[in-house]
Amino acid sequence: YPPWYSPETGIYNSKYPSIELPSDPILDVVSFILSQKHNGITAFIDSVSGISVSYSKFFSLVKSMASGLHQLGVKQGDVILILLPNSIYFPVIFLGALSLGAIVTPMNPLSSLLELKKQVLDSNPRFAFSVPDKVDGLRIALAGCSVIGVPDYVNFDRMPSESGYFHKLIFSDPLMAPRPKIKQHDTAAILYSSGTTGSVKGVVLTHRNFIAMMEHFVRFEPSQYDYPSTTNIYLATVPMFHVYGLSLFVMGLLSLGTTVVVMKRFDADEMVRAIDRYGVTHFPTVPPLLMSLIRKVKSSPGNSFRSLKQVSCGAASLNTKCIEDFIQTLPHVDFIQGYGLTESTAVGTRGYNTVKVHKYSSVGLLAPNAEAKVVDWVTGSCLPPGSIGELWLHTPGVMKEYLNNVEATTATIDEDGWLHTGDIVYFDQEGYLYVLDRLKEVIKYKGFQIAPADLESVLTSHPEVLDAAVTAARDEEAGEIPVAFVVRKDGSSLSEAALMDYVAKQVTPYKKVRKVYFRALIPRSAAGKILRRELRALLNSKL
Ligand code: AMP
Repeated sequence: YPPWYSPETGIYNSKYPSIELPSDPILDVVSFILSQKHNGITAFIDSVSGISVSYSKFFSLVKSMASGLHQLGVKQGDVILILLPNSIYFPVIFLGALSLGAIVTPMNPLSSLLELKKQVLDSNPRFAFSVPDKVDGLRIALAGCSVIGVPDYVNFDRMPSESGYFHKLIFSDPLMAPRPKIKQHDTAAILYSSGTTGSVKGVVLTHRNFIAMMEHFVRFEPSQYDYPSTTNIYLATVPMFHVYGLSLFVMGLLSLGTTVVVMKRFDADEMVRAIDRYGVTHFPTVPPLLMSLIRKVKSSPGNSFRSLKQVSCGAASLNTKCIEDFIQTLPHVDFIQGYGLTESTAVGTRGYNTVKVHKYSSVGLLAPNAEAKVVDWVTGSCLPPGSIGELWLHTPGVMKEYLNNVEATTATIDEDGWLHTGDIVYFDQEGYLYVLDRLKEVIKYKGFQIAPADLESVLTSHPEVLDAAVTAARDEEAGEIPVAFVVRKDGSSLSEAALMDYVAKQVTPYKKVRKVYFRALIPRSAAGKILRRELRALLNSKL
């Protein structure tokens, strides 16, 4: 066996040298980030307006935000909801709140009222940040939670004439920011994920989890490039409310002094314009974004996209055809994949060196400080390189718990601290990881999570629906789409279109049910659990 695998314990070790994490129990991730010095370098640029912020200004804005939130009465342990698309203010609010010891819970700004109320009920925020046109509606919907509107652009060089709360916050005196004692093990953020089964749950991440994730960037990432990371320009279209965008654009890259060009929402033409205009060198994507990039490159023969050095992909599986297409279309660009989960603070593998070894369909080598097991999900035995099983992860990035849900926590993290990922994988003889399939229920639509259980509860809330089950169908563009099997009540003539419309009104647009099959029965076990494998077989027979 290779030296990084132990047949006695079944543990795979990272091939990278381990990184010593800070031992001081009193340390917060924002102090950790602000201790880096990148004078004279631009931190963020808004892709449309071109408004930019230097690192020193950005760090001062974070302190102003902390000072303003403090004056507003935000205290250590308070929860703050961020309901915003990508913007250069997102990291300011996120880090400002964290530096006060407050806890941030981000959420897709397109979430439905039902989803919003659920997350609010679970996480109990005192303040929320949202786009201005939603503020009035949210104030009513989120009773007990003050909602603050965040304008599109603020001119940082001039005191505002407007009297909005956001302006007051962002122009507060940075020197008045308090410096509370925050412990590494204090909660920093609550992100929502459905995990291996059931409804969405609050993933509780601590400052320690984020510091562990950050250390990869600080100590390790620069050594992977042949050029200084301060010359890198990243394009941020992947959302900051998801752990992928959060770990990269709101935190990780700040330690490297790179410049992040922020796109509010994805638009293929705007993507090309931004790459050209700002000389983007690095572009983190999800599979549909990658496909869109390939299409754009093919339809722009005069444009060689010379500035691009590296395109990465993660959050969902990518087919080989797409990888081959990319390599043919942009042969001068490095291509790597990465793997992680919300529950591991995005820590899992790093795709470094896949270019040199041409293992493009691998998601890379285990990240520094990470250990893994590949477990036979029937017998429970640990499997060596080359064998297929469920991936278990052990890293300092593994979440503290699911909020208010001991049962789900113990089902996901075992007593030895191993996170059962629900992903079916194998490691090759050189330690490269391949993700083949999933044991868990979650559906990945364009890299976004959809919990079948959540859609099932919306479907069964329809007065004419007796029973429902949701599963994933393959889709070339989105990767996977949710389809529903539904049992109507006796005498009902409910149509597919009417039911799909009913669901669409209650969920974030990407979660819409895309197809309904009416059935006489849903396959269930004696205990009443939906037999999802049978559902998949049923779906394949339909297709
Ligand atoms: P999330 O918590 O939304 O980041 O989802 C994590 C899940 O996304 C993982 O457990 C995998 O099922 C999937 N995933 C993440 N990265 C990849 C990848 N590179 N290839 C295949 N699946 C991935």
